[in-house]
Amino acid sequence: MAQIWKGAPVAAALNEKTKAQAEALREKDVIPTLAIIRIGERPDDIAYETGACKRAAAVGVAVFQLVLSENASEQELEQTIYMVNDDPHIHGVLLLRPLPKTMNEERLVGLLAPEKDVDGITDGSLCGVFTGKKIGYAPCTAQACMEILEYYGVDCTGKKATVVGRSLVVGRPVAMMLMEKNATVTICHTRTKDLSQQMQQAEIVIAAAGRRGMFGADCFREGQLVLDVGIHFNEEGKMCGDVRTAEVEPIVEAITPVPGGVGAVTTAVLMSHVVQAAQKAHDF
Ligand code: NAP
Repeated sequence: MAQIWKGAPVAAALNEKTKAQAEALREKDVIPTLAIIRIGERPDDIAYETGACKRAAAVGVAVFQLVLSENASEQELEQTIYMVNDDPHIHGVLLLRPLPKTMNEERLVGLLAPEKDVDGITDGSLCGVFTGKKIGYAPCTAQACMEILEYYGVDCTGKKATVVGRSLVVGRPVAMMLMEKNATVTICHTRTKDLSQQMQQAEIVIAAAGRRGMFGADCFREGQLVLDVGIHFNEEGKMCGDVRTAEVEPIVEAITPVPGGVGAVTTAVLMSHVVQAAQKAHDF
C-alpha cells in the first residue's frame, strides 16, 4: 500500500519557516505585505481571499484588500495595478482571476511588476522559471509540487519524471523545476501517444491533466511517486483528483491525496513568496 503524502505537514513546515522570516523582517520594521485585488463578489474569489487572509495572519504577513466593483473599467484596474506596483509597502500582489470577460486579461497581467508577482502569473515570472534567473516567482501550484517532493526526501537527480499537462500554471513550470533538480522530464499532453506507457516509465508522475479520475491502475507500476494536482468534484460533490486513488494506491510507492495534497500547500507557498519579496525589496 502506498504512503499517503499529505500536504498539511509540508505546509506546516513551510509556514513555520515563513513565520520566522516574517518576524525577522518585522524586527527591522518591515511588515511583509500582500495586496489582494478582487473584482466583484464571486464566491470562489471571496473564499480564496478569506483563506489567504487567514493564512497570512497566521504567519505574520499583512494583507491589503483592494476590491473593485464588478462593473469596474479596465482603466480602474490598470490604475490599481500601477498603485500597488509603486507602493513600497506592498511586497506581493495576488490578482484574483479570471478577470471579467470585458477586460484584456493578458494585457493587464502584463502590467504587474514581476518582483511583486508572488502568484507567478506574469511572463517575467515564467521567464525566471525557464531561465533559472531570479525574476519573479514560480506559479504556486508548481512550486507546491516541488515542496512536497523536497519535504518527503525525494532526490530528483537522475530520476525519470513524467508530467501530464503543459499549462503555464502547472505542467510547464513544474517540468522546468524538475529539470532544474536534474530529473529527466517527459511532458505529455492531449496529442501524446501511448500516454499510459509514458507514465509507467517514470519514477515521478505529476498528474495535471485536469480530467477527473482519468488515470487508473493501467497507468502506473510499483515504486512510483505520484503527485495528483487535479481538483474536481464528483456527482456527490466530493472533491477528487485526476487519479483514481483507490485503484492506484495499492500499486505505487507514494501518492498525494485529493483533497489534502498539493492544494493544501499552495497558500503556504504564496505566503513564503511574499516574505521573500519583502526580503528582496529591502536587501535582507
Ligand atoms: P489546463 O490549463 O486545462 O491544462 C491541462 C493540460 O492537460 C493541458 O496541457 C492538456 O493538454 C492536458 N490534458 C488534458 N487532457 C488530457 C488528456 N486526455 N491526455 C493528456 N493530456 C491532457 O489545466 P491546469 O490549469 O494546468 O490545471 C490542471 C488541473 O490542476 C486542474 O484539475 C486544476 O483544477 C488543477 N489545479 C490544481 C491546483 C491546486 O492547487 N492543487 C491549482 C491549479 C490547478 P493540451 O495542452 O494538449 O490541451
